[in-house]
Amino acid sequence: MIKLEGITKSFGSLQVLKGIDLEINKGEIVSIVGPSGAGKTTLLQIMGTLDEPDAGRVEIDGTVVSRMKEKELSAFRNHRIGFVFQFHQLLPEFTALENVMIPAFIARVPSKEARMHAMEVLDFMGMTDRASHKPNELSGGEKQRVAVARALINNPAVILADEPSGSLDTHNKEELHQLFFELRERLGQTFVIVTHDEALSKITDRTIHIVDGVIKV
Ligand code: ATP
Repeated sequence: MIKLEGITKSFGSLQVLKGIDLEINKGEIVSIVGPSGAGKTTLLQIMGTLDEPDAGRVEIDGTVVSRMKEKELSAFRNHRIGFVFQFHQLLPEFTALENVMIPAFIARVPSKEARMHAMEVLDFMGMTDRASHKPNELSGGEKQRVAVARALINNPAVILADEPSGSLDTHNKEELHQLFFELRERLGQTFVIVTHDEALSKITDRTIHIVDGVIKV
């Protein structure tokens, strides 16, 4: 599903990734852990085609993305990859439903269809009655569920999450972690989750340790 070979990345004179080889299978839930500054977010951004490696090969869902041009790449990203960040990054002036619809709009899905899909995903999250609420009318846990719904709207093969439960309390954290497993069960998505949360890394199928830009075995 995700295959990385020989990934290196530097920012100026700082070499952040020093040759990463990694394979993640379809339907796996993998956590990426490691000390602050180890290169976890950089690696996730490269997997998500949001950043380019200096060298190496990135294959996602059977497509070698490391050779694609930006226009092609953004269409690929939109359809195949969903992102969840630590801070939900919902647009405050839009309702939950409208926020969920955004990636569908970007993918040029007609608005009636986008609305229908967004309602389906919100329903799946148990959020139907919150669809018309704006982010400031939602709890932290609800906002993060809307952010997950937004990541799912285009039915991506892969969900990449960067500290998704970082801003939540223990109860909401557990609910969000549970949600990832439910989604995998029902929709078969592959999850790669950067986390400092041991409660999450303990329950994922596999934990990848990154230390100083390399995978520690
Ligand atoms: P944390 O757990 O603190 O989020 P991380 O393992 O995710 O850390 P990265 O965010 O990948 O670490 O950053 C790795 C290193 O690369 C850090 O030293 C960071 O300052 C640096 N870095 C990341 N992005 C950039 C950038 N765009 N320009 C310059 N330096 C960067």
